[in-house]
Amino acid sequence: MRSYDTIIIGAGIGGLVSAALLAAKGMEVLVLEQQQSVGGCAATFSHRGFRFDTGATIGSGFQTNGPMQWLAEKLNVCWPTQPLDVAWEYREGKNTLLLDKNRHSLLQHFPASESFWREQADIADRLWAVSEKLLSLYQRSRSQQIAALLRVLPAKVCTSKILQLCTMSAERWLQKHNLHRDAAFCRFIDAQLLISAQTTSSSCNALYAAMALDLPRKSPCSIVGGIGTVADILGQKISSLGGQVICGEKALSFTVDKDQITEVVSSKGRYKAREVLFNGSSAGLATLLSKEIPTSWQKESRARWGAFILHIAADKEIMEQLHSSHLQLVDTAAGKLAEGASLFLSASHPHDMTRAAEGKVALSISTHTAVQPWWEAWEKGNDTYTAMKLAYTDKILALLEIHVPGFQDNVEFYMAGTPLTYARYTGRHLGLVGGYSQNSIVPPGRNHFGIKNCTLVGDFTFPGQSMAAVTVGAVLAEDRIARRL
Ligand SMILES: Cc1cc2nc3c(=O)[nH]c(=O)nc-3n(C[C@H](O)[C@H](O)[C@H](O)COP(=O)(O)OP(=O)(O)OC[C@H]3O[C@@H](n4cnc5c(N)ncnc54)[C@H](O)[C@@H]3O)c2cc1C
Repeated sequence: MRSYDTIIIGAGIGGLVSAALLAAKGMEVLVLEQQQSVGGCAATFSHRGFRFDTGATIGSGFQTNGPMQWLAEKLNVCWPTQPLDVAWEYREGKNTLLLDKNRHSLLQHFPASESFWREQADIADRLWAVSEKLLSLYQRSRSQQIAALLRVLPAKVCTSKILQLCTMSAERWLQKHNLHRDAAFCRFIDAQLLISAQTTSSSCNALYAAMALDLPRKSPCSIVGGIGTVADILGQKISSLGGQVICGEKALSFTVDKDQITEVVSSKGRYKAREVLFNGSSAGLATLLSKEIPTSWQKESRARWGAFILHIAADKEIMEQLHSSHLQLVDTAAGKLAEGASLFLSASHPHDMTRAAEGKVALSISTHTAVQPWWEAWEKGNDTYTAMKLAYTDKILALLEIHVPGFQDNVEFYMAGTPLTYARYTGRHLGLVGGYSQNSIVPPGRNHFGIKNCTLVGDFTFPGQSMAAVTVGAVLAEDRIARRL
């Protein structure tokens, strides 16, 4: 039986980043990915001549000194990014806002919010500086790391403003700025937080909110070939460093002796490893260990989100009505933001011929949805499940038709994905996406079931649902493993 220093289960961004860094240190790594290609929620797949993003569409963390740039330098790779001058366009009723670095459109619409945005930018800059510092301490001894953090943290983080905000909700923060009575502004903030923090202002911690609201400011970008190019580059790098990335092989179970995983059993073989890194949640780990899923998880999953997604092949004419390749729509009349009442549309770059032929674009359009009703519909039978899919599709297309008249005439074909699709393609428990709700600065506990040579990585283990945050979490996870090897 072949033995490795580390086996990485799952080739999402978290698994790939950790595996590449371990391989760069000369460790023998094996990555097992159940799908035929790498990337998980940040993959790009082909269908009938189009390349669609499975979930993520906007590159984050690629700014100077950002985590993706740090990673590129460490691994000596180059990301094919295309800057987005307008990160996305926000439309709600008759209001249209262009979200960009300068925030002109935002301040024009909501002039009273200026001091809020100044404070947000200051806090986010401080937190980015801490993330930068964390990354710059990579491979240093623990004592050097602690000493350096103690030097930077008091100046950057222990300001009265940050200490005040760390126990406050984003809603309370808006009140502090006297913005809570502006319904349109609050809805705008809630729509942004739902995308980036998986929750709205009443239950989002203010510090997380400051970071989540920062994306349009911090050099967002498209990736040539689709977001999956990042995962492909990482996979190729691991192989070129001597590691193995095997797609189409699912880890089925772990053999455990006392507090150690001694063997990984997959759909095609058995392997030994000193360390195991699982790119998933405690619930996924429970399944691999044949344990009960923790009841706290079962309860929480009812409240957390999945995604309903439409992959649409369309004529590029629809782009003539958009100011950016990304569009967020909010249906004011619906009074809520999920279940098709708000959506996020991302289009391939019209000149990116790797994604669609001349004159065509590949679109991914998603809305938040509660996962449980989808499983209940599935249990009732295919007719109920299919009817539910159709109802969501119609609702999304109707909202698009209002804001982009003629949209449906330009659709060549579409495919719908539900939380069941995500569960199947990404292995995520119940199809939950986007990590956990960031209502406290203390992340929820991770359950390793007492196993000492197993580490979790991915967006359920580190705050922030994004490529950037998953990358920082993966660097920290890799660092822990490398110290044990
Ligand atoms: C609809 C949507 C839109 C998003 N938009 C953005 C965006 O615009 N920008 C952004 O930065 N982020 C975005 N995100 C978030 C981002 O995509 C995720 O946070 C990130 O990709 C998660 O990476 P991960 O490492 O946690 O793992 P995942 O992507 O969940 O990958 C886990 C991998 O492990 C594999 N796996 C699981 N179990 C096994 C097993 N037993 N054996 C073998 N393989 C296994 C899966 O197949 C999968 O490939 C979005 C997410 C979604 C769902």
